[in-house]
Amino acid sequence: MLVGLRAVGAAAPSLRLAAADVAAAWDRGGGRGRIALCAADEDTLTLAWAAADAALRAAGLDGSAVDGLWWGTTRPPFAEGPSIAVLGAALGIEPHARAALAAGSAHAGIDALLGAADAVAAGSARAALVVVSDALRPGPGTGFEARCGAGAAAVLLSAGEGAPATLGLHATRMQPWLDRYRGDGEADTRDVYDPRLFREEIFLPLVGEVTDALRTLEPRAWSLPDPDGRLGATVAKRAGAGAPASSAVYTALGDTGAAAALLGAVGALDAAGSVAIVGYGGGRVTGVLVHADVPVPGAASVGAAIDDAEARPVGYSGALRARGQLVPNGETVAMGVPPESAMFVRGAHEMLQMLGARCVDCGTISTPPSIHPHCIACGGPKLEAVQLAREGTVHTYVVNHTMPAPFEAPLPIAVIDLDDGARVMLQVADDGSNVEIGTRVRLVLRKYAHERGVPVYGFKAKPVRKVEE
Ligand SMILES: [Zn+2]
Repeated sequence: MLVGLRAVGAAAPSLRLAAADVAAAWDRGGGRGRIALCAADEDTLTLAWAAADAALRAAGLDGSAVDGLWWGTTRPPFAEGPSIAVLGAALGIEPHARAALAAGSAHAGIDALLGAADAVAAGSARAALVVVSDALRPGPGTGFEARCGAGAAAVLLSAGEGAPATLGLHATRMQPWLDRYRGDGEADTRDVYDPRLFREEIFLPLVGEVTDALRTLEPRAWSLPDPDGRLGATVAKRAGAGAPASSAVYTALGDTGAAAALLGAVGALDAAGSVAIVGYGGGRVTGVLVHADVPVPGAASVGAAIDDAEARPVGYSGALRARGQLVPNGETVAMGVPPESAMFVRGAHEMLQMLGARCVDCGTISTPPSIHPHCIACGGPKLEAVQLAREGTVHTYVVNHTMPAPFEAPLPIAVIDLDDGARVMLQVADDGSNVEIGTRVRLVLRKYAHERGVPVYGFKAKPVRKVEE
C-alpha cells in the first residue's frame, strides 16, 4: 500500500546562542550561525509536543484522531520510563494507540519514520504521527559544542490515496563504525574520535552510496546530514544538490540530532516535487524520497517556527546554566514531586490533557475536575470530562521576582479565561515581560519541575504575537 503524508509541523526551543560566543569562551576565533537550546522548562519532550501539535493543527485534527505514535530522539527524558506515554497523553492520543520510541543514535528519527510507514502500509495504523526531536548536550570545550542544537519536526502519515504527498523509495546502509557517540550513563555527547578518518573512511563513502541511489530520481530539494559544518556541502556537491534545504536549518538551529533529517526537509514540502531526506547516525545512513503532488499542509509555517522571532539570545554562561552544566552551590527547595505523590498519580491525566468537567445541565466548565465534584455555577452533580480550549485571554496576572532555587525568577503566573468559558490559573512561559491583562495566550506543554530524575510536565500560557493591524 502507498503511504501518504498528510501534514507536517516543526518546533524550535526558545533560546539562541551565537556560535562565535562558544568559540570566544575557549579563546578560539570563528563560529558561524546560531544554535538553539532549551530553556529550563523545555526539553526534547516539550519540543516533540510542539512539533506534533503544529502538524495536527495543520491537518485540522486533534490527538484523538491518531492511532499510532512513533517518536525518535537520542535523549528521551527517561532513559527507562514512561517517556512516550507522557507524550501521548499530552497530545490527547487515545490510550489504545500503537506507540514506539526509537533512540540510541541520531538515526532514530529515520527509524521512527520508517516504523510508522510500515505500520500504515500493513494496515495496523490508520493515522500515524511521527515525531522527531532532540535537545543535545555537548561536552564543554569540544568542537561539537559550537554546532550542537535542538529542534523537532512531525509528520502525519496515513494511506496514500488522496494524500498531498507520498513516501517513495528508500535506500539504507549499515556498518559497525564508531561515529559520534555517548557512553552509557554519560550526559554529554562526544566529538568523533578522528575527524579525518571519519570523513574519508566512514561518512563520505557511506552517505555517497545512498545519495547516488536517490539522485537518479532527480529530487528538487535535499535534506542532508552535516556532522561538522563542512561535510554537508561536500555531500551536496556529490549529489548535485546545490544548496540543500537543510543548510538553512543547520545555520539557524545547529545540529538537531535525531530531528535533523526530517526537520531539514519538512519546509521544502511547500511546493510540488520530490524531496530527498538523508539521515545519518550510529553507523547507519538511510535516504527516503517524499513526492508532493501539491504543497503539504503545515510546510509553509516551518520557516517561521525555525526563525522564531520571539527566541531569546543567551550568552555562553547562560547556555551552560540552561543545559545544567553550570549549577549554583547551595540548597534547593524540595518540591515533593513523584514518584511518591498520589496527587500526581491521580491527577496526571487531567493535568497532561488539560481536562475540565462540563456540567450536563448548564454547560459551565469547572477546573480542575478532581477538586470539583459539583458544578461551580449551578451545583449540579452531572459532569462530563472535556478537553479545555487551548487559547484564551489573560484575566489577571502576577510576576514573582524572588523565587527559591530550583525555581527561576521572574516567574509569571496568570489567571486565564479560556475560549470555552473555563477559567484556569497557569504559569506563563518566558519571563512575563510580554504579558498584560487582555493578552491573548495559547497553552503549550512545558516542564514544571525535575526532581530526583523525574520530570513533571504541564501546560503554560504563552502570549500570542500580536498581528500587525
Ligand atoms: Zn451547572
